[in-house]
Amino acid sequence: MGRLDNKVAIITGAAGGMGKADALLFAKEGAKVAITDLQEDKIQEVVAEIQASGGEAIGFKQNVASEEDWIRVVDETVRKYGKIDILVNNAGISNATPFMDLTVEGWEKTMSINVTSIFLGQKYVIPHMIEAGGGSIINISSIAGLTGGSGAGPYTASKGAVRMLTKATAVDFAQHNIRCNSIHPGYIETPMTIDLFKNEQMMQWFQSQTPLPRLGKPEDIANGALFLASDESSYITGIELPIDGGYYA
Ligand code: NAD
Repeated sequence: MGRLDNKVAIITGAAGGMGKADALLFAKEGAKVAITDLQEDKIQEVVAEIQASGGEAIGFKQNVASEEDWIRVVDETVRKYGKIDILVNNAGISNATPFMDLTVEGWEKTMSINVTSIFLGQKYVIPHMIEAGGGSIINISSIAGLTGGSGAGPYTASKGAVRMLTKATAVDFAQHNIRCNSIHPGYIETPMTIDLFKNEQMMQWFQSQTPLPRLGKPEDIANGALFLASDESSYITGIELPIDGGYYA
């Protein structure tokens, strides 16, 4: 028996490091997964991998900042699987532009992909969760949403907004048995960070800041997401869960 048997999950950014790990683990635990990404070819590869191991998955090309795309993804998921129990808002981009070089366009791009996307996902999924009698929303923030950080103003601001939107949603929809929690990854080895850790100095700095001195793996995040998605966390809502090797300790 799987920990997500009979559940239907939408996971965004599932062609990338953490989103793909979430998709593989959720499917292994019995969920039917609707997975989305801007990268259409890669998302279909993840669908094929899940199906090859006996899981149930459907893939969509989606820009998470597009309202039209959210309406389509939610409608088609409900048409295919009948309901939505779990939403993992994982897709995101980094932005390390030095503050004085920032443009309004660059600022707004980060905000729309990292924050507006979550507002839209929740707006279109929550009515289906209410209809189904409840649900679990997991928003992927960052340790940058808990602490300040050098040289990443828009990213840090966006991830702080994700944290607080999560708390507001948890309070507003608890009456419908909808839980909403955020995960705050530390430094995780994914396509987003691969170049960063080729830099020896960066690696040394990171190890000096992290009590468990290894990079996180996408699977470390997926294990936390699985717990928050499953009924094992049915009395947990509005929390922020750092998965960061102790960086924030
Ligand atoms: P990743 O780059 O491997 O994956 C992100 C995925 O999101 C990619 O597949 C990309 O195509 C997709 N994406 C980007 N813009 C999109 C858009 N507009 N619409 C739809 N899909 C889009 O990165 P990751 O490290 O797996 O990051 C996942 C989440 O974790 C992000 O929100 C990121 O900010 C957060 N995070 C990552 C780290 C880290 O160390 N890797 C640390 C803290 C937080």
